[in-house]
Amino acid sequence: MTLSELTERVRGEVVVPGDDDYEAARAVHNGMIDRRPAVVVRVANTGDVMATVDYARENDLDLSIRGGGHSAPGFGTNDGGVVVDFSVMRGVRVDPASMTARAEGGVTWGDFNAATYPFGLATTGGIISTTGIAGLTLGGGVGYLTRGLGLTSDNLVSADVVTADGQFVVASETENEDLLWALRGGGGNFGVCTSFEYRLHPVKDVYWGPMFYEPEETETILSFYRDYIKDAPEEMGGFPAFQIAPPLPFIPEDRHGDMFAAIVACWSGPLEEGQRRFEAFHDVAEVKAEHVGPVPYPAINAAFDDLFPKGIRSYWKGNYVKELTDEAIAAHVAHGPKAPTASSTMHLYPVDGACHRVAPDATAFGHRDANFNMVIVSAWEDPADDEANRQWVRDYSDAITPHSEPGGYINFMGVDDDDRVPANYGGNYDRLLDVKRKYDPGNLFRMNQNIQP
Ligand SMILES: Cc1cc2nc3c(=O)[nH]c(=O)nc-3n(C[C@H](O)[C@H](O)[C@H](O)COP(=O)(O)OP(=O)(O)OC[C@H]3O[C@@H](n4cnc5c(N)ncnc54)[C@H](O)[C@@H]3O)c2cc1C
Repeated sequence: MTLSELTERVRGEVVVPGDDDYEAARAVHNGMIDRRPAVVVRVANTGDVMATVDYARENDLDLSIRGGGHSAPGFGTNDGGVVVDFSVMRGVRVDPASMTARAEGGVTWGDFNAATYPFGLATTGGIISTTGIAGLTLGGGVGYLTRGLGLTSDNLVSADVVTADGQFVVASETENEDLLWALRGGGGNFGVCTSFEYRLHPVKDVYWGPMFYEPEETETILSFYRDYIKDAPEEMGGFPAFQIAPPLPFIPEDRHGDMFAAIVACWSGPLEEGQRRFEAFHDVAEVKAEHVGPVPYPAINAAFDDLFPKGIRSYWKGNYVKELTDEAIAAHVAHGPKAPTASSTMHLYPVDGACHRVAPDATAFGHRDANFNMVIVSAWEDPADDEANRQWVRDYSDAITPHSEPGGYINFMGVDDDDRVPANYGGNYDRLLDVKRKYDPGNLFRMNQNIQP
């Protein structure tokens, strides 16, 4: 297929170098990524995806799939290849009777939550509204609701998929079950998902908010959280973190720019219990600033968006954690408070509760025995600060890795983590290889945490 044949076959816009829109079309969220694909297809429907997959395969070109474009290593773009860009396929249909929603491949968590909230329904999603449902779901999916509702991928009921040979298939519990199994944690290795069907749960307004403590309290806060969360009701979600105080009204002006240890908590049980449920976070140490109270669930998904605008430069590392040992806490105490910018942090997401009730081999997600999913992320504006920011993440990661599992969450991997792929997929790697060999033996879908067939 030639480029002009591709252009004739698709309904969506085809953007190539030299077009007015090319600079925008080649960019992804991470400003560190500077790649120049040969063609970006803003697909308008599943037929466009089929045509674009055929074009990439027939011309032996790299093929990136871009949902929300948040992949830290920039898998949503490439040099000299093809991009399937879902940014205009953003429809969500909620079915309140079956408590499910079907969402197209370019839907963000902001789009999704806005569509389900009026029905008083939600599913586990990410903590930033601009992240795509696609990449997040396929890698597993953690957020405020994980302990009660499981991973996002545990709530994936079915998906519409275009496979490497350009064919359309459905992956569900009754059709291509092995493909659905692989999509629940195996990343973008198996096909292009044009839509996702999710199970929804009754969630509307939640009691939520960040609480800031002096950084000297880090050890107290992390030891407390380790013991507290083990027995906490599953409606309690959230994570400990580090945060340089942004200039926000709830923080005393003379503390703007200061480093704090933080707990961001989310109670999705009965709203009237929220205040009482947060007492433990006030008993553990003096809260220096906080912004807590009842909020619509979609609002908490956008609360930190300003810290991660499109184009901000960033660098990531992650590990699963079974036990948060005293030695691990000492490493957090040594490195966390040195976070270089207000957008740089460590989050320790609990992944117990409902996640642990799913059998380790029931889905591709390979780390059901982890209790925490940890990410260290640095984000900054000025290229002159690249090295200092990367170094903070590396030093922190080096210190914490001996106290963590060898594998980390595929969605928290950085540009230089390719050697960790088998460990990241964990206990299900061999079966993932089998499914990869069946659906994509030629490895057309290789711009990802790649399972090499
Ligand atoms: C600011 C920020 C906040 C984040 N917060 C969270 C969080 O709270 N919880 C969490 O779990 N993760 C979080 N992440 C990590 C996030 O899950 C990953 O970056 C994820 O890959 C983003 O998905 P995307 O669709 O936006 O990314 P993209 O870059 O578009 O895609 C990422 C990967 O998914 C594949 N892919 C994308 N779309 C499709 C599709 N339609 N079909 C098949 N494969 C596809 C791509 O091939 C690529 O490998 C966050 C990331 C950022 C940058």
